[in-house]
Amino acid sequence: MRNIKLKNLEICTLGSHCSLQVLKGAKDENFSTCLICEKKRYDLYKRYSFIDRILLVDSFEQMLEKPFQQRIKKLNCIFIPHGTLISSFSPDDIEKIDVPFFGNRYILRWEADRILKEKLMVAAKLNVPRAIRDKNDIDRLCIVKLHGAAGGRGYFTVWDRNSFDEGIKKLINLGSISSEKDVYIQEYVHGVPVFLHYFYSPLCNEVEFMGADRRYESDVDGIARIPSKQQLNVNIEPTYNVIGNIPLVLRESLLEEVYKMGEKFVRAAKKLVPPGIPGPFCLEGVYTKDGTFITFEFSARIVAGTNLYVNGSPYSEMLFGKEMSMGRRIATEIRITNSNNQLNKILT
Ligand code: AMP
Repeated sequence: MRNIKLKNLEICTLGSHCSLQVLKGAKDENFSTCLICEKKRYDLYKRYSFIDRILLVDSFEQMLEKPFQQRIKKLNCIFIPHGTLISSFSPDDIEKIDVPFFGNRYILRWEADRILKEKLMVAAKLNVPRAIRDKNDIDRLCIVKLHGAAGGRGYFTVWDRNSFDEGIKKLINLGSISSEKDVYIQEYVHGVPVFLHYFYSPLCNEVEFMGADRRYESDVDGIARIPSKQQLNVNIEPTYNVIGNIPLVLRESLLEEVYKMGEKFVRAAKKLVPPGIPGPFCLEGVYTKDGTFITFEFSARIVAGTNLYVNGSPYSEMLFGKEMSMGRRIATEIRITNSNNQLNKILT
């Protein structure tokens, strides 16, 4: 177990993504809270009274400096990773940060690397879209993705080798990638995208389905507002930049399978990336017209879609009978494991 005192724990995260929800949840569970905040965002975060301590930095890069890590450790902080950590740092850097992390920091590499990601989803026996390794094999509508947690930025759709080459040229000119090796091609799944939020507690070996959302993406979600004839005239190529999230409840008959998928994922994660996936994760995919879920991605940590449910979701209300956000669920797990001297089960 990492060297951490059991009293006066402080919950700490980077000021971005879902930090407000995480620290609000920590405060609801009576923890002290600490935000690593870029100076340019201080005016935003100073408004929230549940943030006890703000550590100002010029940029998040400072997180990689040893003296800064020492400072966080001295404060007795548990660090909660989220999407901004993954988009800011390489997996090597993340693994080296000498601060106790909530959850399994080693699985974040499996989220950032699309080949490892596919391996874990296949090992979990989830339905996954066909991955296309060779651009000459593109024979249907496919989506081309960058590595890492870019929130859909830079994605484009292709239907043959020529449209792939054209899209790659644009991304190289924009400086987003250096070669076509930097992308991953996946079959485009027809249906409706849904993001399933889970929490796994190693203490009771239970998967909890906490909520669901759909993303509001620009400009793909705006395209339907233009008549189809004019879409052709302006030659729109949709982009998938996440702007926000929309709440969702599922048909009740889908829930059984939702739980099964979460449990299969937890089992595979334990096998492939010990200690597995304590804490929040998200299965991200498309429900096809026959109600089958095809998982195109996972996030191995809290997702920003959970920001919808600061007061709890319909699903967390039914499980806990009180307002339980994902941020608060994390804090609850820390509180309980700490009182049982089992922090080693949830920290890496
Ligand atoms: P991601 O950031 O990878 O979760 O995906 C961003 C967006 O791209 C999703 O919200 C979907 O709208 C879309 N998307 C990603 N993968 C697929 C896929 N295989 N088929 C259809 N849509 C996809």
